[in-house]
Amino acid sequence: MGSNVVAPKSRTVDREFFRRELSGFLPDYVYDAHCHIWLEQEVQFRIPGVAGDIGTQDYLSLMADLHPERKTGALFLGFASPRLPDGRHRMNEFVGKQTAFGPAFRGEFFVQPDDDPEWVRQEVRRLGLHGLKCYHTFAPVTPTWEADIPSFLPERLVKVAHEECWVITLHMVKSRAVADPSNIHWIRHYCQSYPNMRLILAHSARAFQPAHNLEGLQQLQGLDNLYFDTSANCEPIAHQAIIRILGHKKLMYGSDLPVSHMRGRSLSAADSFLWIYEDTPVWGEKHLKIEPVFVGLEHLRSLKWACWSERLSDAAIEDIFWNNAAQLLNVSKAQAVTVHNPP
Ligand SMILES: [Zn+2]
Repeated sequence: MGSNVVAPKSRTVDREFFRRELSGFLPDYVYDAHCHIWLEQEVQFRIPGVAGDIGTQDYLSLMADLHPERKTGALFLGFASPRLPDGRHRMNEFVGKQTAFGPAFRGEFFVQPDDDPEWVRQEVRRLGLHGLKCYHTFAPVTPTWEADIPSFLPERLVKVAHEECWVITLHMVKSRAVADPSNIHWIRHYCQSYPNMRLILAHSARAFQPAHNLEGLQQLQGLDNLYFDTSANCEPIAHQAIIRILGHKKLMYGSDLPVSHMRGRSLSAADSFLWIYEDTPVWGEKHLKIEPVFVGLEHLRSLKWACWSERLSDAAIEDIFWNNAAQLLNVSKAQAVTVHNPP
């Protein structure tokens, strides 16, 4: 397993989309601040046409679908499910091994809320990782998508991250994301109490409904150690709200592999959002015959539109795609690895 590197998966429609929309926009250096690698037997999902364990070499191959020939590095996250407790340990070991591929690669350790902070400290050091990943499915509440942040990211783990100068990637939940008073409270409390911990709010603060960012981000001003990754969010205003309210230096690109290699997009609606995928029966309505492209390409175009609309300079765009993450994770351009060429 995992000995053969997977091939890129793009179709003609993806390559045309890239040439038309992205080839002139994407900078030469692309740091991916939110992407997953995995052991096949520990995950439920499948990318169509992709089998086996997906490590660093496979990551570099699949990124030819999104950022061909760019020089890259990545912050790797694993996956874990409360139903497979041993799987989490195997996955953390795997992320550690794959991160050791080169210095442009960083990795996070998947925690669950009842972890002993001293054990976490030793494991992260032993595996050569750089931060923590948590997920709401481990919160002991129902439903977990309404969980308060401490129920899946307890304060004692944030304290260790502060002591060790780690990053933490947080995919917050609750229906109104950063417009929810509990989320605002805990983000402010953690960032202010633990200044050496750097908190990364995933999916542009999970504002798949951008109205939540317009409403809530004002209340997160002034937190030096708060960052955002754009991963998988296809709504330009979600990214723009961060750029305009908190500044472009806070924002980092993320592909969210494997989500990047599904087809479709996120879509805001009402006070919420939905996802349409290739098998959602919307692509052939009325006169339409739409061929959906990779979520990762839709995502990149939403980021392009956000940068255009905010009138960002080339230098600011290069910050979002490389410098912000490289500074946060202490990676240099000399350490970047070239994404495999497209077929
Ligand atoms: Zn993710």
